[in-house]
Amino acid sequence: MTEKELICVNCPMGCRLHVQIENGAVISVTGNSCPRGKAYAEKECVRPARILTTTVKISGGTHRVLPVITDREIPLDMIFAAMDEVRKIEIEAPVKEGQVIVHDLLETGADLIASRSMGRAEA
Ligand code: SF4
Repeated sequence: MTEKELICVNCPMGCRLHVQIENGAVISVTGNSCPRGKAYAEKECVRPARILTTTVKISGGTHRVLPVITDREIPLDMIFAAMDEVRKIEIEAPVKEGQVIVHDLLETGADLIASRSMGRAEA
């Protein structure tokens, strides 16, 4: 059995969670003040995932980069591979907020979408 200490990030209370793990499964969570803490600990210890927020290069736009975000969490151990993929992207302005920039990023099921609209720069 292994034990892990975590801080729950689901609300400002930041409860200190104590997690016991056996054979890759969470068998006990203590220190949480509500069920969300238990769910967070279970996910974080078994299959951690994060929303990816970053930027992609854009040509012809009012800025040189466009903020983008995944529409759902992707596995934490794929974040660096995802960033490598994102660095290769260069799109053309204009772009609308919510526009899909990459569908099913690295087969995670998550789409990478534009966080904002960006028009073309005036010549
Ligand atoms: S366990 Fe509940 S109360 Fe504690 S930080 Fe997490 S969400 Fe907030």
